[in-house]
Amino acid sequence: MNDNILTPIVIVGARGRMGKALICEVIASEDLVLDAVVDRSGGPGRGQDAGLLAGIHEIGLIVTDDLRPRKNTVVVDFSLPEATQMNIQRCLEAGVPLVLGTTGIDDGTRQYLREAAEKIPIVSDANFSVGITLLTRLAGFAAKVLGESWDSELFEIHHRYKRDAPSGTALRIAKAVAKASDRNLADVLQTRRSQSKTPRGQHEIGISSIRGGDSAGEHTLMFLSDGERIELSHRVTDRAIFARGALRAAHWITDRDPGLYTMSDVLEINHLLL
Ligand code: NAD
Repeated sequence: MNDNILTPIVIVGARGRMGKALICEVIASEDLVLDAVVDRSGGPGRGQDAGLLAGIHEIGLIVTDDLRPRKNTVVVDFSLPEATQMNIQRCLEAGVPLVLGTTGIDDGTRQYLREAAEKIPIVSDANFSVGITLLTRLAGFAAKVLGESWDSELFEIHHRYKRDAPSGTALRIAKAVAKASDRNLADVLQTRRSQSKTPRGQHEIGISSIRGGDSAGEHTLMFLSDGERIELSHRVTDRAIFARGALRAAHWITDRDPGLYTMSDVLEINHLLL
């Protein structure tokens, strides 16, 4: 890791909730420096100072609408799925690493991401919080111990503006449960219980999504059996945790080989609880 050199960061989706949190965290960081901040063309905030946009102080860096990362920078993208493929392409052209936090990306873009990761290092994760990364690990461990005789159900709450449901994080936790108990998530996922007229199937993994208010994310995984229940819960009280996690990943990725990494690689916990 480059301990003595500041890592130059390019933030994409700068005007968004996450973009502003990222700007604040980079300004406060001793290891990172803002190199560019980008958002889509049009709308308020274009041409505005990035520090003022984030509600801090003027820093002399203007929000642009064209992602052209300079050599040796790291791009941190928390924008929208429609923008993801173009942003990956710009990182490929510049040969710079990418930290991708955008959720809800389609299969075609995910395939493009895998191919791009053969040429540049990419950390992509639906949830950059340390707590959720650990909870996902715990979920897999519990599912392995309990097996399919315990029913697995998950519920998640997010703010009223979130576009995708279930959340990428809920799907990732469900995937960890499925994998650990030798199930294929696509075969057993149940997200529309209200439309089902049959009793719960034994192998199902259910996800219920609630949208409303300003919740930055709440996930509870339940393992239910006759006479007892285990709950693993995580609640976000400040979305700055995602920004801190993503920027930890940005610092980590600077001297990595090309490849597709997740936050568990950044935290180096992949070998635990296996
Ligand atoms: P938001 O709607 O507040 O902000 C999105 C921003 O992206 C907006 O400012 C929008 O103008 C901008 N944008 C749209 N198209 C663009 C383009 N082509 N180029 C550059 N910018 C563009 O959303 P948010 O709450 O900040 O979340 C952003 C994304 O991050 C979502 O997909 C969300 O689900 C995800 N997210 C991920 C994590 C994680 O840990 N992985 C955590 C929180 C949010």
